[in-house]
Amino acid sequence: MSEELEKPINTKKIKEILSANDSARIRTWLSICARCGLCAESCFFYLANNRDPKTSPAYKFKNSLGEMYRRNGEVDREFLHRCYDMIWGECTTCKRCSMFCPFGIDIATMIATARAVCNSQGIVPEGLARTSVNYRETGNQMGMATEDFIDTCTWMEEETGEELHGLTIPIDKPGARYMYTVNAREPMYYPQDIAMAAKIFTVAEEDWTMPSFGWDCTNLAMFAGDRALAGQIVKHVYDKAIELGVQNILITECGHAYRSAKYEGPYFAGYQDGKPPVPVIHSVRLFYEYLRDGRIKIDPEKMIEEPVTYQDPCNVSRNGGLWEEGRALTRFLCKDFRDMSPNRDLNHCCGGGGGYIPMGPEFKKRRMISGQIKADQIKATGAKIVIVPCHNCFDQINDLNKECNLGVKVMSFKEIICETMIIPEKFQPRDEDDEVEGGEE
Ligand code: SF4
Ligand code: SF4
Repeated sequence: MSEELEKPINTKKIKEILSANDSARIRTWLSICARCGLCAESCFFYLANNRDPKTSPAYKFKNSLGEMYRRNGEVDREFLHRCYDMIWGECTTCKRCSMFCPFGIDIATMIATARAVCNSQGIVPEGLARTSVNYRETGNQMGMATEDFIDTCTWMEEETGEELHGLTIPIDKPGARYMYTVNAREPMYYPQDIAMAAKIFTVAEEDWTMPSFGWDCTNLAMFAGDRALAGQIVKHVYDKAIELGVQNILITECGHAYRSAKYEGPYFAGYQDGKPPVPVIHSVRLFYEYLRDGRIKIDPEKMIEEPVTYQDPCNVSRNGGLWEEGRALTRFLCKDFRDMSPNRDLNHCCGGGGGYIPMGPEFKKRRMISGQIKADQIKATGAKIVIVPCHNCFDQINDLNKECNLGVKVMSFKEIICETMIIPEKFQPRDEDDEVEGGEE
């Protein structure tokens, strides 16, 4: 660490970032905060850390970005390392605190700006830095080659085609209604997620495709504080959608990918009006419409009987507006739904957001401590299944499940829909499906 602290600081770069973000908005937020403390109780880090004042939202932004502006960018490495601890280790940029601040101060945006300053000096969690290298080299966070991605889709198509007659996974189909984009973890570790989505789209008779490039809708550079890279990443998705002439970009069950593609990405990618060039839809919304409109029918005999609760991912619910769709979908699939408290837009972050999961072992202990609030919420419902339409929440709640002995099963909507939907006769597997597979041998 002492060597690290001796490295020079590029003060010019820091001043540039501060100046580029020196909007009336941020100036007002920094000056208007009345230190009333109303935001403190809203933050799960504060609650989980025995109400340590140093974990309150106001303390964190004042002592990171606020101090950077106060010192006019003249900061040293020791200070930036203290910020590192606060802005990555004690905030997931979940935006809950803004809902409780009487002035609506957007603390998460200021934390994100402080992250950009630290990132400009090479001060960034190693786990996030690794994904940035992968995005730059391959366009996806896992560093997966295009051929491997396509091979995985082909493999899932062959395997699942035996279960569902007529199933295909179309790649680069021009003009499709939906271009389905996934979290890179899916082709890498959970290819069955792609197979399940293909089953659902087949039964719904959807016009869909997957892109051969721009298929990873995640954007961890957004959490690493690298806005330029975040812009390139989201542009891969937009540009492919434009090239194919698809009608919509569909986001898998992932929260931050939705926040990136729909809300923050247009700004990162230089769209001044803040709108994505192609409409962006989240899977929760589309799956809900399928069930509402009867394009997918659920077998009442197969509906989940065990008590179920629903995790509102911050970037699907509070920051994505889909809390009612998530609940309606849950009720279509499950007989005993028990809401957590608080919920909907006031949900607590699970503790896995803001890049926390890919930040890895360095932050795991803190992640488990701060996740205690979510663990308590889940326990209080008595649920045996937690539905989680977000990859980061999924990992976090699985970790909490082990750490806190919650005794729950964590499931995605895809998984439950596939287990409960009625497969119409025309999609039932036929002998010829096996014969095609066996060929003329
Ligand atoms: S954005 Fe979320 S984690 Fe960060 S200070 Fe606010 S409530 Fe706490
Ligand atoms: S609630 Fe708003 S005004 Fe009050 S301390 Fe928090 S950020 Fe400052």
